[in-house]
Amino acid sequence: MTAPAAGLDVGGTKALCVVIDASGTVLAEGEAPSPVDGSRSSLEALGALVAGVLATAGADPSETTLGVGLAGMVAQGRLVVSPHLPHLVGVDVEGVLADALGVAVRGVNDADAALAAEWAWGSARGARDVAMVTLGTGIGGSFVLDGRPVAGRGGFAGEIGHMVVVPGGEPCACGGRGCWERYASGEALARYARAALDEGRLDLDDGAGEPGYDLARALVAAARAEVPGAAAVLDELAHWLALGLANLVVALDLERVVLGGGLGAEADLYAPTVLEDLGARLEGAAARGPLALGPAAYGSRAGAVGAARLGARR
Ligand SMILES: [Zn+2]
Repeated sequence: MTAPAAGLDVGGTKALCVVIDASGTVLAEGEAPSPVDGSRSSLEALGALVAGVLATAGADPSETTLGVGLAGMVAQGRLVVSPHLPHLVGVDVEGVLADALGVAVRGVNDADAALAAEWAWGSARGARDVAMVTLGTGIGGSFVLDGRPVAGRGGFAGEIGHMVVVPGGEPCACGGRGCWERYASGEALARYARAALDEGRLDLDDGAGEPGYDLARALVAAARAEVPGAAAVLDELAHWLALGLANLVVALDLERVVLGGGLGAEADLYAPTVLEDLGARLEGAAARGPLALGPAAYGSRAGAVGAARLGARR
């Protein structure tokens, strides 16, 4: 890619747009609430977000491209299965945004996008065998193996949030039970924090119960402030993360795992515990050498940056 490129990461609650240059530097960015339905007007609101960010970057829409990262299984640019964006399944996001903006648009999986950014310019740079694990409301995944991005038969490789780790366990938005994302995501962290509060193992007196209160975020802030009990709640998350990562490493012999999404950006708080747990449970841990585990260099912007990169490579 040579001209500036736009990327849009549509998550469960917010949509983040960036414009990047050919070296992956973010020139401008902005965010807006995610569409609450698949209507044309909701999607055109996304278009207005992109148009504003393009204008801030001084980019000419007729000379740019737009990649759109979507959480779920994406085929031919459209969501076909999405527990977290069900209202966008089958919706022609590419077509509506192309009409509204006059740019070439490509829909991609959000974790594939995050890895594309990190592999080109971030924490996965130079790695031959690396996984992106995005930790948000759910868990997304993407792999580069033997130095090549892995798509799978239908382009659906990496739906690791729905690996079953507890047969008959917690019900999942996918319709299954016991999926990894029910135990190791931001949503799971909020559940562990709630249990700790209810059982008196943790005390947070900072607005719980107010609209929009994000218990996972509050727990992370409490852990940073060394509030008693908060680290133990993060240890629960770390245990489940290690279990799923161990499954990935024994299957794929990974050298590196990059943690994306909002919770991934906080990896310094729990990665040491994950690695300790992983070392204790991983088959042949000593023979494998250490696993590099850390946050995405782009933080929670990795999906938008990578969507821009993939959108420019049609
Ligand atoms: Zn599931």
